[in-house]
Amino acid sequence: MTDLFIGGEWGPAEAGATFTTLNPADGSVFEECAEAGAPDVDRAVAAARSALADPAWAGMTAAARARMLWRVADLVEEHADELAELETRDNGQPLAVAGGVTVPGAAEHFRYFAGWCTKIEGSVVPVSFPDTLHYTRREPVGVCALITPWNFPLMLAAWKLAPALACGNTVIIKPAEQTPLSTVMLVELMERAGFPPGVVNLLTGGPATGAALAEHSGVDKVSFTGSTEVGRKLVHASAGNLKRLTLELGGKTPSIIAADADIDAAVAGNVQGALFNSGQVCAAYARFYVDRRRADEFTEKMAAAAAALVLGPGLDPASQLGPLVSEEHLAKVDSHVRGARAEGAELVTGGRRAGGRLAEGFFYEPTVFAGVTDEMAIAREEVFGPVIPVLAYDDPDEIVERANDSAYGLAASVWTRDLSTAHRLAAKVRAGAVFINMIHVPDAATTWGGFKASGWGREMGPYAIDAYTEVKGVWTHLGGA
Ligand code: NAD
Repeated sequence: MTDLFIGGEWGPAEAGATFTTLNPADGSVFEECAEAGAPDVDRAVAAARSALADPAWAGMTAAARARMLWRVADLVEEHADELAELETRDNGQPLAVAGGVTVPGAAEHFRYFAGWCTKIEGSVVPVSFPDTLHYTRREPVGVCALITPWNFPLMLAAWKLAPALACGNTVIIKPAEQTPLSTVMLVELMERAGFPPGVVNLLTGGPATGAALAEHSGVDKVSFTGSTEVGRKLVHASAGNLKRLTLELGGKTPSIIAADADIDAAVAGNVQGALFNSGQVCAAYARFYVDRRRADEFTEKMAAAAAALVLGPGLDPASQLGPLVSEEHLAKVDSHVRGARAEGAELVTGGRRAGGRLAEGFFYEPTVFAGVTDEMAIAREEVFGPVIPVLAYDDPDEIVERANDSAYGLAASVWTRDLSTAHRLAAKVRAGAVFINMIHVPDAATTWGGFKASGWGREMGPYAIDAYTEVKGVWTHLGGA
Protein backbone atom coordinates (compact mmCIF):
# COMPACT_ATOMS: atom_id res chain seq x y z
CA MET A 1 0.00 0.00 0.00
CA THR A 2 1.40 3.41 -0.92
CA ASP A 3 0.47 6.69 0.76
CA LEU A 4 0.07 10.33 -0.19
CA PHE A 5 2.88 12.76 0.65
CA ILE A 6 1.59 16.11 1.90
CA GLY A 7 3.51 18.77 3.82
CA GLY A 8 6.39 16.37 4.48
CA GLU A 9 4.18 13.58 5.90
CA TRP A 10 3.16 10.25 4.38
CA GLY A 11 -0.40 9.14 5.05
CA PRO A 12 -3.57 7.66 3.60
CA ALA A 13 -6.32 9.63 1.89
CA GLU A 14 -8.63 11.35 4.37
CA ALA A 15 -11.62 9.32 3.15
CA GLY A 16 -9.55 6.12 3.20
CA ALA A 17 -10.11 5.53 -0.53
CA THR A 18 -7.67 3.36 -2.48
CA PHE A 19 -7.18 1.99 -5.98
CA THR A 20 -5.06 -0.81 -7.40
CA THR A 21 -2.48 -0.94 -10.16
CA LEU A 22 -1.96 -4.01 -12.33
CA ASN A 23 1.07 -5.72 -13.79
CA PRO A 24 0.29 -5.50 -17.52
CA ALA A 25 2.50 -8.50 -18.31
CA ASP A 26 0.04 -10.88 -16.61
CA GLY A 27 -2.93 -8.79 -15.51
CA SER A 28 -2.30 -9.48 -11.79
CA VAL A 29 -2.86 -6.87 -9.06
CA PHE A 30 0.48 -5.28 -8.28
CA GLU A 31 -0.09 -2.61 -5.65
CA GLU A 32 -2.74 -0.70 -3.74
CA CYS A 33 -2.43 3.08 -3.61
CA ALA A 34 -4.16 5.86 -1.69
CA GLU A 35 -6.69 7.71 -3.81
CA ALA A 36 -6.66 11.42 -3.06
CA GLY A 37 -10.02 13.15 -2.76
CA ALA A 38 -10.97 16.83 -2.56
CA PRO A 39 -9.88 17.27 1.12
CA ASP A 40 -6.46 15.82 0.28
CA VAL A 41 -6.15 18.17 -2.68
CA ASP A 42 -7.00 21.08 -0.34
CA ARG A 43 -4.36 19.94 2.16
CA ALA A 44 -1.70 19.52 -0.52
CA VAL A 45 -2.41 22.96 -1.99
CA ALA A 46 -2.29 24.55 1.48
CA ALA A 47 1.03 22.80 2.22
CA ALA A 48 2.51 23.89 -1.10
CA ARG A 49 1.30 27.49 -0.60
CA SER A 50 2.78 27.73 2.84
CA ALA A 51 6.10 26.21 1.67
CA LEU A 52 6.26 28.85 -1.05
CA ALA A 53 6.54 31.53 1.62
CA ASP A 54 8.70 29.47 3.99
CA PRO A 55 12.15 31.05 4.29
CA ALA A 56 13.59 27.52 4.30
CA TRP A 57 12.61 27.35 0.61
CA ALA A 58 11.95 30.95 -0.51
CA GLY A 59 15.21 32.05 1.11
CA MET A 60 17.29 29.10 -0.02
CA THR A 61 20.18 30.15 -2.25
CA ALA A 62 20.15 29.06 -5.85
CA ALA A 63 23.36 27.12 -5.22
CA ALA A 64 21.73 25.16 -2.39
CA ARG A 65 18.72 24.41 -4.61
CA ALA A 66 21.10 23.17 -7.29
CA ARG A 67 22.82 20.82 -4.83
CA MET A 68 19.45 19.41 -3.81
CA LEU A 69 18.46 18.63 -7.40
CA TRP A 70 21.88 17.10 -8.03
CA ARG A 71 21.38 14.94 -4.95
CA VAL A 72 18.07 13.68 -6.41
CA ALA A 73 19.97 12.60 -9.54
CA ASP A 74 22.54 10.77 -7.38
CA LEU A 75 19.78 9.02 -5.42
CA VAL A 76 17.99 8.00 -8.63
CA GLU A 77 21.24 6.45 -9.86
CA GLU A 78 21.90 4.73 -6.54
CA HIS A 79 18.44 3.11 -6.81
CA ALA A 80 18.52 2.63 -10.57
CA ASP A 81 17.90 -1.12 -10.58
CA GLU A 82 15.00 -0.91 -8.13
CA LEU A 83 13.39 1.97 -10.04
CA ALA A 84 13.81 0.22 -13.39
CA GLU A 85 12.22 -2.98 -12.13
CA LEU A 86 9.34 -1.06 -10.57
CA GLU A 87 8.74 0.79 -13.85
CA THR A 88 8.78 -2.44 -15.83
CA ARG A 89 6.33 -4.16 -13.50
CA ASP A 90 3.96 -1.20 -13.33
CA ASN A 91 4.11 0.04 -16.93
CA GLY A 92 5.24 -3.05 -18.83
CA GLN A 93 8.19 -1.53 -20.69
CA PRO A 94 11.12 -3.92 -21.25
CA LEU A 95 13.74 -3.75 -18.52
CA ALA A 96 16.32 -2.65 -21.10
CA VAL A 97 14.17 0.43 -21.80
CA ALA A 98 13.48 1.14 -18.14
CA GLY A 99 17.12 0.64 -17.13
CA GLY A 100 18.73 2.08 -20.26
CA VAL A 101 16.48 5.02 -21.10
CA THR A 102 13.90 5.85 -18.42
CA VAL A 103 16.02 5.88 -15.27
CA PRO A 104 19.17 7.51 -16.74
CA GLY A 105 16.94 10.00 -18.59
CA ALA A 106 15.27 10.99 -15.32
CA ALA A 107 18.60 11.38 -13.49
CA GLU A 108 20.05 13.43 -16.32
CA HIS A 109 17.08 15.78 -16.25
CA PHE A 110 17.66 16.59 -12.58
CA ARG A 111 21.36 17.23 -13.30
CA TYR A 112 20.63 19.47 -16.27
CA PHE A 113 18.19 21.63 -14.31
CA ALA A 114 20.45 21.65 -11.24
CA GLY A 115 22.80 23.59 -13.51
CA TRP A 116 20.10 26.13 -14.35
CA CYS A 117 19.38 27.15 -10.73
CA THR A 118 22.32 29.55 -10.63
CA LYS A 119 21.69 30.91 -14.12
CA ILE A 120 18.11 32.15 -13.96
CA GLU A 121 18.84 35.80 -14.62
CA GLY A 122 17.01 39.01 -15.33
CA SER A 123 18.37 41.77 -17.52
CA VAL A 124 18.88 45.51 -17.45
CA VAL A 125 16.74 47.07 -20.17
CA PRO A 126 17.59 50.42 -21.83
CA VAL A 127 14.09 51.95 -21.50
CA SER A 128 13.45 55.30 -23.21
CA PHE A 129 12.75 57.33 -20.08
CA PRO A 130 15.47 59.61 -18.75
CA ASP A 131 17.07 58.88 -15.37
CA THR A 132 15.38 55.51 -15.14
CA LEU A 133 16.83 52.16 -14.21
CA HIS A 134 14.80 49.21 -15.43
CA TYR A 135 15.56 45.60 -14.77
CA THR A 136 13.70 42.31 -14.99
CA ARG A 137 13.43 39.55 -12.43
CA ARG A 138 12.38 35.97 -12.99
CA GLU A 139 10.26 34.73 -10.11
CA PRO A 140 8.62 31.37 -9.43
CA VAL A 141 5.07 31.04 -10.79
CA GLY A 142 3.98 29.60 -7.43
CA VAL A 143 2.18 26.34 -6.67
CA CYS A 144 2.50 24.03 -9.69
CA ALA A 145 0.29 21.00 -10.23
CA LEU A 146 2.17 18.47 -12.34
CA ILE A 147 -0.06 15.87 -13.99
CA THR A 148 1.58 12.99 -15.88
CA PRO A 149 0.47 10.11 -18.11
CA TRP A 150 1.28 6.39 -17.93
CA ASN A 151 3.60 5.86 -20.89
CA PHE A 152 6.92 7.02 -19.37
CA PRO A 153 5.92 7.73 -15.77
CA LEU A 154 9.31 8.29 -14.15
CA MET A 155 10.87 10.23 -17.01
CA LEU A 156 7.87 12.50 -17.46
CA ALA A 157 7.73 13.20 -13.73
CA ALA A 158 11.39 14.27 -13.90
CA TRP A 159 10.67 16.49 -16.93
CA LYS A 160 8.31 18.51 -14.76
CA LEU A 161 9.72 18.25 -11.23
CA ALA A 162 13.29 19.25 -12.11
CA PRO A 163 12.59 22.58 -13.89
CA ALA A 164 9.69 23.51 -11.59
CA LEU A 165 11.92 23.16 -8.52
CA ALA A 166 14.96 24.72 -10.22
CA CYS A 167 12.84 27.85 -10.63
CA GLY A 168 11.86 27.88 -6.94
CA ASN A 169 8.24 26.75 -7.27
CA THR A 170 6.49 24.30 -4.96
CA VAL A 171 4.85 21.29 -6.54
CA ILE A 172 2.06 18.76 -6.27
CA ILE A 173 2.68 15.82 -8.55
CA LYS A 174 -0.15 13.55 -9.65
CA PRO A 175 0.98 10.51 -11.63
CA ALA A 176 -1.36 8.48 -13.83
CA GLU A 177 -3.55 5.98 -11.98
CA GLN A 178 -2.26 3.10 -14.16
CA THR A 179 1.42 3.67 -13.25
CA PRO A 180 1.98 5.67 -10.05
CA LEU A 181 4.69 3.55 -8.41
CA SER A 182 7.94 4.92 -9.83
CA THR A 183 6.72 8.44 -9.01
CA VAL A 184 5.97 7.36 -5.43
CA MET A 185 9.52 6.05 -5.15
CA LEU A 186 10.96 9.18 -6.76
CA VAL A 187 9.16 11.33 -4.18
CA GLU A 188 10.59 9.13 -1.40
CA LEU A 189 14.04 9.83 -2.82
CA MET A 190 13.26 13.54 -3.04
CA GLU A 191 12.27 13.52 0.62
CA ARG A 192 15.71 12.07 1.38
CA ALA A 193 17.34 14.78 -0.74
CA GLY A 194 16.12 17.24 1.91
CA PHE A 195 13.49 19.49 0.35
CA PRO A 196 11.70 21.45 3.11
CA PRO A 197 8.21 20.10 4.00
CA GLY A 198 5.51 21.13 1.53
CA VAL A 199 7.88 21.87 -1.37
CA VAL A 200 7.21 18.48 -2.97
CA ASN A 201 3.78 16.89 -2.51
CA LEU A 202 2.39 13.72 -4.05
CA LEU A 203 -1.25 12.91 -4.74
CA THR A 204 -2.03 9.54 -6.27
CA GLY A 205 -5.45 9.14 -7.84
CA GLY A 206 -7.34 9.24 -11.10
CA PRO A 207 -9.02 11.84 -13.31
CA ALA A 208 -11.09 13.27 -10.42
CA THR A 209 -7.92 14.04 -8.45
CA GLY A 210 -6.39 15.73 -11.49
CA ALA A 211 -9.57 17.70 -12.15
CA ALA A 212 -9.73 18.92 -8.53
CA LEU A 213 -6.15 20.20 -8.84
CA ALA A 214 -6.82 21.87 -12.17
CA GLU A 215 -9.84 23.71 -10.78
CA HIS A 216 -8.27 24.70 -7.46
CA SER A 217 -7.90 28.45 -6.98
CA GLY A 218 -4.78 27.89 -4.85
CA VAL A 219 -2.90 26.37 -7.79
CA ASP A 220 -1.02 28.88 -9.96
CA LYS A 221 0.08 26.62 -12.79
CA VAL A 222 -0.76 23.25 -14.27
CA SER A 223 1.84 21.42 -16.30
CA PHE A 224 0.13 18.53 -18.02
CA THR A 225 1.27 15.70 -20.25
CA GLY A 226 -1.46 13.47 -21.60
CA SER A 227 -4.20 13.25 -24.18
CA THR A 228 -5.46 16.16 -26.24
CA GLU A 229 -8.97 15.41 -25.02
CA VAL A 230 -8.01 15.94 -21.37
CA GLY A 231 -5.83 18.91 -22.37
CA ARG A 232 -8.95 20.65 -23.67
CA LYS A 233 -10.71 19.99 -20.35
CA LEU A 234 -7.79 21.58 -18.53
CA VAL A 235 -8.12 24.74 -20.57
CA HIS A 236 -11.66 25.09 -19.21
CA ALA A 237 -10.79 23.95 -15.68
CA SER A 238 -7.97 26.47 -15.37
CA ALA A 239 -10.07 29.45 -16.50
CA GLY A 240 -11.30 30.34 -12.98
CA ASN A 241 -8.07 31.94 -11.78
CA LEU A 242 -6.45 31.93 -15.25
CA LYS A 243 -3.78 29.45 -14.26
CA ARG A 244 -0.65 29.22 -16.32
CA LEU A 245 -0.90 26.09 -18.43
CA THR A 246 1.68 23.98 -20.23
CA LEU A 247 0.17 21.20 -22.31
CA GLU A 248 2.15 18.33 -23.84
CA LEU A 249 -0.52 16.42 -25.73
CA GLY A 250 -1.05 13.79 -28.39
CA GLY A 251 0.66 13.34 -31.72
CA LYS A 252 0.46 11.57 -35.06
CA THR A 253 4.02 11.86 -36.30
CA PRO A 254 4.51 11.60 -40.06
CA SER A 255 7.64 9.81 -41.26
CA ILE A 256 8.54 10.70 -44.84
CA ILE A 257 10.69 8.21 -46.74
CA ALA A 258 12.07 9.75 -49.94
CA ALA A 259 12.95 7.76 -53.08
CA ASP A 260 16.67 8.21 -52.42
CA ALA A 261 16.53 6.99 -48.79
CA ASP A 262 18.72 4.11 -47.65
CA ILE A 263 15.75 1.76 -47.20
CA ASP A 264 17.50 -0.67 -44.86
CA ALA A 265 18.57 2.16 -42.57
CA ALA A 266 15.08 3.68 -42.84
CA VAL A 267 13.49 0.36 -41.89
CA ALA A 268 15.79 -0.11 -38.91
CA GLY A 269 15.10 3.43 -37.69
CA ASN A 270 11.39 3.46 -38.41
CA VAL A 271 10.73 0.14 -36.71
CA GLN A 272 12.22 1.64 -33.58
CA GLY A 273 10.55 4.99 -34.21
CA ALA A 274 7.17 3.27 -34.47
CA LEU A 275 7.44 0.43 -31.97
CA PHE A 276 9.66 1.70 -29.17
CA ASN A 277 7.71 1.12 -25.92
CA SER A 278 5.14 -0.73 -28.07
CA GLY A 279 4.27 2.51 -29.83
CA GLN A 280 3.13 4.11 -26.58
CA VAL A 281 5.20 7.23 -27.22
CA CYS A 282 3.70 10.64 -27.96
CA ALA A 283 6.23 11.24 -30.76
CA ALA A 284 5.99 7.66 -32.14
CA TYR A 285 6.21 7.54 -35.92
CA ALA A 286 2.63 6.80 -36.78
CA ARG A 287 2.01 7.39 -40.50
CA PHE A 288 4.58 6.51 -43.14
CA TYR A 289 4.62 8.41 -46.42
CA VAL A 290 6.83 6.43 -48.80
CA ASP A 291 7.74 7.34 -52.39
CA ARG A 292 5.59 4.94 -54.42
CA ARG A 293 8.68 3.50 -56.15
CA ARG A 294 9.99 2.24 -52.80
CA ALA A 295 6.68 1.59 -50.98
CA ASP A 296 6.46 -2.18 -51.55
CA GLU A 297 10.07 -2.76 -50.58
CA PHE A 298 9.69 -0.59 -47.48
CA THR A 299 6.43 -2.28 -46.44
CA GLU A 300 7.80 -5.81 -46.83
CA LYS A 301 10.95 -5.04 -44.91
CA MET A 302 9.06 -3.18 -42.15
CA ALA A 303 6.65 -6.10 -41.79
CA ALA A 304 9.51 -8.59 -41.57
CA ALA A 305 11.38 -6.47 -39.01
CA ALA A 306 8.24 -5.87 -36.91
CA ALA A 307 7.22 -9.53 -36.95
CA ALA A 308 10.73 -10.58 -35.89
CA LEU A 309 10.60 -8.57 -32.65
CA VAL A 310 10.25 -10.71 -29.54
CA LEU A 311 7.07 -9.91 -27.65
CA GLY A 312 7.15 -10.82 -23.98
CA PRO A 313 7.13 -9.73 -20.32
CA GLY A 314 9.40 -6.75 -19.72
CA LEU A 315 11.31 -8.59 -16.98
CA ASP A 316 12.38 -11.30 -19.45
CA PRO A 317 15.70 -10.09 -20.91
CA ALA A 318 14.78 -11.67 -24.27
CA SER A 319 11.72 -9.41 -24.68
CA GLN A 320 12.03 -6.56 -27.15
CA LEU A 321 8.40 -5.44 -26.99
CA GLY A 322 6.40 -5.42 -23.78
CA PRO A 323 2.65 -5.41 -23.20
CA LEU A 324 0.33 -2.44 -23.63
CA VAL A 325 -0.44 -0.68 -20.38
CA SER A 326 -3.98 -1.97 -19.79
CA GLU A 327 -6.80 -4.13 -21.08
CA GLU A 328 -8.73 -0.94 -21.83
CA HIS A 329 -5.91 0.50 -23.92
CA LEU A 330 -5.45 -2.81 -25.75
CA ALA A 331 -9.16 -2.76 -26.66
CA LYS A 332 -8.71 0.78 -28.02
CA VAL A 333 -5.73 -0.23 -30.17
CA ASP A 334 -7.62 -3.29 -31.42
CA SER A 335 -10.63 -1.21 -32.35
CA HIS A 336 -8.38 1.10 -34.44
CA VAL A 337 -6.99 -1.98 -36.20
CA ARG A 338 -10.44 -3.41 -36.89
CA GLY A 339 -11.57 -0.01 -38.14
CA ALA A 340 -8.62 0.17 -40.56
CA ARG A 341 -9.48 -3.26 -41.98
CA ALA A 342 -13.11 -2.23 -42.37
CA GLU A 343 -12.00 0.90 -44.23
CA GLY A 344 -10.03 -1.23 -46.70
CA ALA A 345 -6.44 -1.02 -45.44
CA GLU A 346 -4.45 -4.16 -46.26
CA LEU A 347 -3.19 -6.00 -43.18
CA VAL A 348 0.37 -7.19 -43.86
CA THR A 349 1.29 -8.56 -40.44
CA GLY A 350 -0.06 -8.64 -36.87
CA GLY A 351 -3.54 -7.26 -36.25
CA ARG A 352 -4.47 -9.15 -33.10
CA ARG A 353 -3.88 -9.72 -29.43
CA ALA A 354 -1.05 -12.15 -28.73
CA GLY A 355 -2.13 -15.54 -27.40
CA GLY A 356 -0.39 -18.59 -25.95
CA ARG A 357 1.85 -17.87 -22.95
CA LEU A 358 1.08 -14.15 -23.36
CA ALA A 359 -2.72 -14.47 -23.27
CA GLU A 360 -3.04 -13.28 -19.66
CA GLY A 361 -1.13 -10.06 -20.33
CA PHE A 362 -2.03 -7.10 -22.51
CA PHE A 363 0.16 -8.00 -25.51
CA TYR A 364 -0.61 -6.89 -29.06
CA GLU A 365 1.20 -8.12 -32.15
CA PRO A 366 3.11 -5.44 -34.05
CA THR A 367 0.89 -4.55 -36.97
CA VAL A 368 1.66 -3.21 -40.45
CA PHE A 369 -0.94 -1.92 -42.92
CA ALA A 370 -0.33 -1.22 -46.61
CA GLY A 371 -2.57 0.68 -49.01
CA VAL A 372 -3.59 3.26 -46.39
CA THR A 373 -5.10 6.51 -47.67
CA ASP A 374 -5.17 9.95 -46.10
CA GLU A 375 -8.87 9.85 -45.17
CA MET A 376 -8.68 6.59 -43.19
CA ALA A 377 -8.92 6.98 -39.42
CA ILE A 378 -5.73 4.92 -39.01
CA ALA A 379 -3.85 7.72 -40.84
CA ARG A 380 -5.44 10.52 -38.80
CA GLU A 381 -6.13 9.42 -35.23
CA GLU A 382 -3.61 8.76 -32.50
CA VAL A 383 -3.48 4.98 -31.89
CA PHE A 384 -0.67 4.99 -29.30
CA GLY A 385 0.13 1.35 -30.02
CA PRO A 386 2.25 -0.92 -32.24
CA VAL A 387 0.59 -0.03 -35.54
CA ILE A 388 2.36 1.05 -38.74
CA PRO A 389 0.19 2.46 -41.55
CA VAL A 390 2.05 2.85 -44.88
CA LEU A 391 0.84 5.44 -47.41
CA ALA A 392 2.40 6.01 -50.85
CA TYR A 393 3.13 9.34 -52.53
CA ASP A 394 3.91 10.16 -56.14
CA ASP A 395 5.04 13.75 -56.14
CA PRO A 396 7.51 15.14 -53.58
CA ASP A 397 5.66 18.46 -53.83
CA GLU A 398 2.46 16.97 -52.38
CA ILE A 399 4.10 15.63 -49.27
CA VAL A 400 4.27 18.81 -47.18
CA GLU A 401 0.55 19.38 -47.47
CA ARG A 402 -0.24 15.76 -46.68
CA ALA A 403 2.10 15.63 -43.69
CA ASN A 404 0.60 18.87 -42.38
CA ASP A 405 -2.97 17.72 -42.88
CA SER A 406 -3.32 16.70 -39.24
CA ALA A 407 -4.76 18.13 -36.07
CA TYR A 408 -1.44 17.34 -34.40
CA GLY A 409 2.05 18.80 -34.72
CA LEU A 410 4.33 17.19 -32.15
CA ALA A 411 7.07 15.70 -34.32
CA ALA A 412 7.97 14.67 -37.87
CA SER A 413 10.68 12.54 -39.43
CA VAL A 414 12.40 12.63 -42.82
CA TRP A 415 14.50 9.87 -44.40
CA THR A 416 16.61 10.97 -47.38
CA ARG A 417 20.23 11.24 -48.55
CA ASP A 418 19.58 14.68 -50.01
CA LEU A 419 20.36 17.61 -47.72
CA SER A 420 18.11 20.07 -49.48
CA THR A 421 15.13 17.67 -49.35
CA ALA A 422 15.80 17.15 -45.64
CA HIS A 423 16.02 20.80 -44.67
CA ARG A 424 13.29 22.01 -47.02
CA LEU A 425 10.89 19.53 -45.41
CA ALA A 426 12.18 20.33 -41.92
CA ALA A 427 11.31 23.99 -42.49
CA LYS A 428 7.87 23.34 -43.96
CA VAL A 429 6.50 20.65 -41.68
CA ARG A 430 4.44 22.11 -38.82
CA ALA A 431 5.84 20.19 -35.84
CA GLY A 432 7.73 20.91 -32.65
CA ALA A 433 10.61 18.58 -33.55
CA VAL A 434 11.90 17.15 -36.83
CA PHE A 435 14.16 14.10 -36.85
CA ILE A 436 16.23 13.59 -40.01
CA ASN A 437 17.44 10.02 -40.59
CA MET A 438 17.05 9.18 -36.93
CA ILE A 439 14.51 8.08 -34.35
CA HIS A 440 12.76 10.49 -31.99
CA VAL A 441 14.80 11.31 -28.90
CA PRO A 442 14.30 13.91 -26.20
CA ASP A 443 17.20 15.78 -24.60
CA ALA A 444 16.99 18.00 -21.53
CA ALA A 445 19.01 20.68 -23.34
CA THR A 446 16.58 21.36 -26.14
CA THR A 447 12.93 22.04 -26.83
CA TRP A 448 10.11 19.48 -26.47
CA GLY A 449 6.52 20.30 -27.31
CA GLY A 450 3.99 20.61 -30.05
CA PHE A 451 2.35 22.83 -32.63
CA LYS A 452 -1.44 22.82 -33.05
CA ALA A 453 -3.44 20.30 -30.98
CA SER A 454 -0.20 18.75 -29.68
CA GLY A 455 -0.04 21.37 -26.98
CA TRP A 456 0.83 24.75 -25.54
CA GLY A 457 4.31 25.82 -24.52
CA ARG A 458 7.57 23.92 -24.43
CA GLU A 459 9.42 21.79 -21.92
CA MET A 460 13.19 21.34 -21.54
CA GLY A 461 16.15 23.62 -22.13
CA PRO A 462 15.71 27.34 -21.49
CA TYR A 463 12.08 26.99 -22.61
CA ALA A 464 11.24 25.18 -19.38
CA ILE A 465 12.66 28.10 -17.41
CA ASP A 466 10.24 30.37 -19.28
CA ALA A 467 7.41 27.98 -18.48
CA TYR A 468 8.08 27.91 -14.73
CA THR A 469 8.83 31.60 -14.09
CA GLU A 470 6.95 34.89 -14.19
CA VAL A 471 8.86 37.91 -15.49
CA LYS A 472 8.63 41.12 -13.51
CA GLY A 473 9.87 44.56 -14.62
CA VAL A 474 11.26 46.84 -11.90
CA TRP A 475 11.42 50.58 -12.60
CA THR A 476 13.45 53.07 -10.58
CA HIS A 477 13.52 56.81 -11.03
CA LEU A 478 17.12 57.85 -10.46
CA GLY A 479 16.43 61.57 -10.15
CA GLY A 480 15.74 61.38 -6.41
CA ALA A 481 12.44 60.77 -4.58
P1 NAD B 1 -4.79 11.00 -20.18
O1 NAD B 1 -5.02 12.37 -20.72
O2 NAD B 1 -5.94 10.07 -20.15
O3 NAD B 1 -4.28 11.09 -18.67
C1 NAD B 1 -3.13 11.81 -18.31
C2 NAD B 1 -3.23 12.26 -16.87
O4 NAD B 1 -4.32 13.15 -16.72
C3 NAD B 1 -3.47 11.13 -15.87
O5 NAD B 1 -2.71 11.43 -14.71
C4 NAD B 1 -4.96 11.23 -15.58
O6 NAD B 1 -5.34 10.74 -14.32
C5 NAD B 1 -5.16 12.73 -15.65
N1 NAD B 1 -6.53 13.17 -15.97
C6 NAD B 1 -7.49 12.50 -16.65
N2 NAD B 1 -8.60 13.26 -16.75
C7 NAD B 1 -8.32 14.44 -16.12
C8 NAD B 1 -9.06 15.64 -15.91
N3 NAD B 1 -10.32 15.80 -16.35
N4 NAD B 1 -8.47 16.65 -15.24
C9 NAD B 1 -7.19 16.54 -14.81
N5 NAD B 1 -6.44 15.41 -14.97
C10 NAD B 1 -7.01 14.38 -15.62
O7 NAD B 1 -3.55 10.44 -21.00
P2 NAD B 1 -2.90 9.00 -20.93
O8 NAD B 1 -3.82 8.05 -21.60
O9 NAD B 1 -2.43 8.71 -19.53
O10 NAD B 1 -1.57 9.22 -21.80
C11 NAD B 1 -1.51 9.04 -23.16
C12 NAD B 1 -1.56 10.39 -23.86
O11 NAD B 1 -0.49 11.21 -23.43
C13 NAD B 1 -1.38 10.26 -25.36
O12 NAD B 1 -2.32 11.08 -26.02
C14 NAD B 1 0.03 10.78 -25.59
O13 NAD B 1 0.27 11.30 -26.87
C15 NAD B 1 0.15 11.82 -24.54
N6 NAD B 1 1.57 12.11 -24.25
C16 NAD B 1 2.11 13.28 -24.70
C17 NAD B 1 3.45 13.56 -24.47
C18 NAD B 1 4.09 14.84 -24.97
O14 NAD B 1 5.20 15.13 -24.56
N7 NAD B 1 3.43 15.61 -25.81
C19 NAD B 1 4.23 12.63 -23.77
C20 NAD B 1 3.65 11.45 -23.34
C21 NAD B 1 2.31 11.20 -23.58
